[in-house]
Amino acid sequence: MNLQIHARVTVFWIGFWPVNKRSNNLLFRLWQDHVVRFWPVLCVALVLMIIEGATLGALARMIEPLFDRAFNSDNTGTITLIAVAISGIYLVRAAAGFGQRILIVSIGLKVTTALQSRLLSHLLTLDSRYFLDNSPGALIERVRGDTLALQGLASSTLMSLGRDSISVIALVAVMIWSDWVWALLALAGIPLLIFPLARLQKLIRGTTRTAREAASRLSTQLDEIFHGVVSIKVNRLEEHESQRFDGEVDKFLAAQLRAERGKAANPAVIDVIAAIGFLAVLIYGGRQIMADEKTVGEFMSFFTALALVFDPLRRLSAVSGYIQAGLASLERLYAVLEARPTILSPALPKPVQSGDLSFDGVAFSYGENEVLSDLSFSALEGQTTALVGPSGAGKSTVFSLVTRLIDPSSGAITLGGTDISASDIDPLRDQIALVGQETALFDESIAENIRRGSLDASDAEVRAAAEAATVLEFSENLPEGLDTRVGPRGSALSGGQRQRVAIARAMLRDAPILLLDEPTSALDAKSEQLVSQALDRLSEGRTTLVIAHRLSTIRDADQIVVMDRGRVIEAGSHDALMDAKGAYARLHQLQSAGLSPNL
Ligand code: ADP
Repeated sequence: MNLQIHARVTVFWIGFWPVNKRSNNLLFRLWQDHVVRFWPVLCVALVLMIIEGATLGALARMIEPLFDRAFNSDNTGTITLIAVAISGIYLVRAAAGFGQRILIVSIGLKVTTALQSRLLSHLLTLDSRYFLDNSPGALIERVRGDTLALQGLASSTLMSLGRDSISVIALVAVMIWSDWVWALLALAGIPLLIFPLARLQKLIRGTTRTAREAASRLSTQLDEIFHGVVSIKVNRLEEHESQRFDGEVDKFLAAQLRAERGKAANPAVIDVIAAIGFLAVLIYGGRQIMADEKTVGEFMSFFTALALVFDPLRRLSAVSGYIQAGLASLERLYAVLEARPTILSPALPKPVQSGDLSFDGVAFSYGENEVLSDLSFSALEGQTTALVGPSGAGKSTVFSLVTRLIDPSSGAITLGGTDISASDIDPLRDQIALVGQETALFDESIAENIRRGSLDASDAEVRAAAEAATVLEFSENLPEGLDTRVGPRGSALSGGQRQRVAIARAMLRDAPILLLDEPTSALDAKSEQLVSQALDRLSEGRTTLVIAHRLSTIRDADQIVVMDRGRVIEAGSHDALMDAKGAYARLHQLQSAGLSPNL
């Protein structure tokens, strides 16, 4: 008998199980990475599920003595006994159900939050290239949306798998115990539906994947809209953006609805089995009762079990939908976790040297587009080297190479004579402070933003940096001084103020190499004067590489390197380059005559 049950349950599961090797592999990895550590709690939950599931079998089983003995006897005591037994079963069911739900949901939540933390730490190890290929919106959707979708897999699925399969086993046992021929008849429809169920799983998986991708695009769009809200408003593009968003929403809706239809079809398929089962048993069993071959109690007990079995079956079939939907998210999550950084520290790193920073025949391409070719120059230790040249010449790429956000395709970048790729990345970056045009401010206080330069700096050191960078000049007028919050991405400060906070941060960092991308944003005259004062103070005594957008600001640079299309076309001091009357002198003339805007 047991074998029969086993065979039937196995056949039944074939329709549900993901079968595909990669899916099983992913589920196994999820289990190993995040779920198995909860095994003691899972065991307790499983016991509670077994109790909850078995109570259904016990209830169906109580029906027979109720009909055959209690209703047929004159003694009301039997009825009372059975009634107390039935309510006792319900109470046990309630307690077990409550306990297992709490345990499973808390495991589900812990698994998803742990996954979110793991995803973020992993994402932060990836190359900057990865973040160019994957928009912030899409990544947010992965870290938040996909892990939440997985929660359905983690909690509902575990809960249903444990409790409902036990219910099904217990109820089928009662059915077989009542009459195995009836049981066979009632469940005869199941094998017929395995093929359609398996097809459905495939459909759900595909449509869910499409829906998740559409959700990513929606998040990307939202991210772009909220970041570009000023330009959208000023250019009166509100309606255009809304329409573009609506178009994407429609695509998401269509994909999600298809996935939901697939999920809803699962339980419907089970109802078809139920219809076949009831029909067969009523016709066949009904005749046996009329011929007095079976008692009403036996029939009612069987019938109750049959009626009860379809509910957990329906839920189990919905679980396969959850699994398929969860798998689509799991695939996306593991795709992130499997991405590996390509810019790595060597196995046997050399210590980072100090000294001149030299580019020696450096080439670099973005795909087919060669951005730098045979670039050579030296930024001498403690001196200021300015990079000038038209937009697209490759100046920012130079910064990315120095900080090892990217590596050259050929040539070498050396610091104090040692190739920077021969040292560890972290100590190399410790040598560098970067002040970009886009100052990366966070929604924290001004002081906390400055402290990002050196997390263990004292309050006095933060204040000293704020003073040197002329931050105190404006922060003193703010109600909470340096403790004033700067708003999301520093939105509560003006462009010049943001720059000064970023400069203070770099001061606190106190790194020997300074990379400076001069602000081009139209700062008012006073701000500009304060920012350039702060920059002068910052670059004193450091090896400074500055991307200059206004030639007037770099007259005093020790060396000016003029770049064009990824090469150095001239280098020297301001005076020497002016005397040479080459590209720099021409650019200078144009800018002084106001004919050429900022570079
Ligand atoms: P500059 O700072 O001198 O204006 P960049 O170093 O920013 O120049 O860019 C040099 C070239 O590299 C440009 O032609 C630009 O199109 C290309 N480029 C920059 N970043 C990327 C990227 N992430 N993907 C592809 N091409 C890029």
